[in-house]
Amino acid sequence: MPDIIQLLPDNIANQIAAGEVIQRPSSAVKELLENAVDANATEIKLIINDAGKALIQVIDNGKGMSETDARMAFERHATSKIKNIDDLFHIRTMGFRGEALASIAAVAQVELKTKKAEDETGTFIEIENSAVIKQEPIAYANGTSIAMKNLFFNVPARRNFLKSNAAEMRHIIDEFIRVALSFPDIFFSLTSNGQEVFHLERATLKQRVVQVLGTNNNSKLVSVQEDTDYLNIYGFVGKPETAKRTRGDQYFFVNNRFIKSAYLNHAVMSAFQQMIPADSFPLYVLFIDMDPSQLDINVHPTKQEIKFEDEKIVYAFVQAAVKHALAQFSITPTLDFDLDPSIQHLDAVSKPVTTENKNATTSSSLYKTFTQKNQAHFIEADNKSELKHWRTFYESPGEEKKIQGESDKVQDVINEQTPAFIDQRSSPLEIIEDQKLIQIHNTYIVATTNRGFILINQQSAHERILYERYIAAAHGKAIATQTSLFPVTLQLSTQDAVLLNDLMNDLNELGYLIEPFGKDSFVVQGTPADVLQGNEKRVLENMLEQFKYFSNDMKFSKREKLIRSLAWQHAIKPGTSLTEKEMKRLTDDLFACAQPNITPNSNPTYMEFKKDYLERLFGK
Ligand code: ADP
Ligand code: MG
Repeated sequence: MPDIIQLLPDNIANQIAAGEVIQRPSSAVKELLENAVDANATEIKLIINDAGKALIQVIDNGKGMSETDARMAFERHATSKIKNIDDLFHIRTMGFRGEALASIAAVAQVELKTKKAEDETGTFIEIENSAVIKQEPIAYANGTSIAMKNLFFNVPARRNFLKSNAAEMRHIIDEFIRVALSFPDIFFSLTSNGQEVFHLERATLKQRVVQVLGTNNNSKLVSVQEDTDYLNIYGFVGKPETAKRTRGDQYFFVNNRFIKSAYLNHAVMSAFQQMIPADSFPLYVLFIDMDPSQLDINVHPTKQEIKFEDEKIVYAFVQAAVKHALAQFSITPTLDFDLDPSIQHLDAVSKPVTTENKNATTSSSLYKTFTQKNQAHFIEADNKSELKHWRTFYESPGEEKKIQGESDKVQDVINEQTPAFIDQRSSPLEIIEDQKLIQIHNTYIVATTNRGFILINQQSAHERILYERYIAAAHGKAIATQTSLFPVTLQLSTQDAVLLNDLMNDLNELGYLIEPFGKDSFVVQGTPADVLQGNEKRVLENMLEQFKYFSNDMKFSKREKLIRSLAWQHAIKPGTSLTEKEMKRLTDDLFACAQPNITPNSNPTYMEFKKDYLERLFGK
């Protein structure tokens, strides 16, 4: 038998290694931008064609490379940034693994132009499949340009795995923004298919945040600044009233490196506690600077996760710094967060807030319905209460055992826990026509049925109705558009504009008539016929936020995400008073649904109270 073990040829070994570093166009963008930053550039231009599938080019005015270095740079483990293992614990550069250029050269056609200020001529190198196919001296400005063409041209399996251009472009913009935020004193531009998408002049951090995250943030930022022996924290948080309904602009940087940390995110959220509704998310852009020896940035191949030597200290500092900043700007906990106008006139909300009635208000269940997830079926967890068994009865199992999208299981749990709940074997549920419908707390509707009564959550019910209507629209039953008398313009961040462009066709089918109107602007010419005009702007902005939130959920298609976002967005909110006629229409529409008993997220839309259960409750 011959021996069978062979060494892999370099280009194949590089291709395999490249899989770790370059997963998609945005990973290459990140590496190239970071190299330019490490080269002390003050101007960095990113050029993208076809969402990076055809071309990714980064041009910088940094220190450039000598002819030998230019050649060396593409070798695996070739780096000028660390020399021995100790250096690993004092890293001040963005890169250090010496893998990026080798990986890029393995999976794309690369052209490098570079010149050092002290050299007469520059160097041009062309590489394909990890092999240099051309090298010559050229005249070139000081700095470096690296162009990579046809990413994954030689790894078709990976190329096919890439997402739509819009999706890949979003990833690229995300990476671009992260780098641009951490280096405000560097000029950045991003040009996509010949159009300049970002043009970020050198600026202060605050200006950069505004440049990148949108001009409407200008007056809404509170600055955070806390210096200690152990670490420094600085940056900005959004004022509480600007908190959004979904996770949006939240950025942590440690020693200027973007990181993801659920733990530190929690520290910020807890500093905001009581100031924002429990289900909303504040904006933050926070930088932590600390001794690199207190960190291990090596735990994740793409370096987004980080290990702190002492995580608890960092948590405490972050929390304290944000609390302090919010207190300094005398943003005290009040109820003046951004509620629906329809909710604002409610007593508990609109009365002036004295300490006394603030305490009363915060302990009232009404306040909690708003702050605690807007969940209609939330009941204060107080086991000592003599209403205990009521609680078990009311509290939807969906609250604790909710399994997203698995409605059958939710139904099983419901049946199991509350025998009075919908029992499929008995006669089908019918609402008794000539009985009055009653609205309570402007939130629920009580309806008498053939089997007892049901308590409908108006918001959840409406969400179900809209969801099914939008699904039907997507299958050809287009929703009528009403033309706006006063078309509204929308000015979005570049990120959101890319997203909205991507969703435009689907939105049209759902009754929205939206047209592009200059850079990152849109005009809303019409809305679905059954949507109240006047708050299109807010609805669309919230919809984009919600969509991004769903975007993390791979199991939904783009259209499903859009439909869920819109249904959630348009559903009538708690606190909306309904006329008898509106209640009638809502219940009729609900029971005309294919699946009336749960929302698209599998929360219950109503609770059933059956006659025999009611009798048992009263000891009959
Ligand atoms: P790393 O950044 O981890 O060192 P890379 O593969 O990204 O590894 O780059 C290898 C080397 O090439 C760097 O250490 C640096 O010396 C050089 N280099 C890469 N990009 C540039 C650039 N834009 N300007 C100057 N030198 C660069
Ligand atoms: Mg690098």
